[in-house]
Amino acid sequence: MRRFLAKSPWVYHLNTGSCNGCDIEIIAALTPRYDAERVGVKLVGSPKLADILLVTGPVTRQMEKRVKNIYEQVPNPKAVVCVGVCGSTSGIFDGAYSIIGGVDKVLPVDIYVTGCPPRPEAIVLGVLKAAGKLAAGTEKAGKKLRYGAQK
Ligand code: SF4
Repeated sequence: MRRFLAKSPWVYHLNTGSCNGCDIEIIAALTPRYDAERVGVKLVGSPKLADILLVTGPVTRQMEKRVKNIYEQVPNPKAVVCVGVCGSTSGIFDGAYSIIGGVDKVLPVDIYVTGCPPRPEAIVLGVLKAAGKLAAGTEKAGKKLRYGAQK
């Protein structure tokens, strides 16, 4: 299994019910114009390879089990970045019969990137913040291993 590298966070993209607007911005963030790979961000095709789950859209009832299942497949340490207003609050889908709510109704969200849709620069920044959070967590865990658990 791949060890988490703070300078090269691997990302798995998951659409839980978005209108695809946020997803297009994620694609833009990966294209040469915004070039997320320049700062080490890499999109992977399996949650088992990812460090960060990049989630768009509100969570639909049909997606709930699948979202949890995919989250479980991401190895620890892991982080969740919620992209767009719909993922944060349900946005324009709020109150719809098929919607459970924002992503944090189902998963623990680490970073919220707001906007409808957010700019590609904001998405890249959100991923880097999540990677920083993971790096801080792994450093702390490493110190505990080296020096024994301290309160
Ligand atoms: S935040 Fe805007 S662009 Fe993103 S899924 Fe919701 S409506 Fe679509």
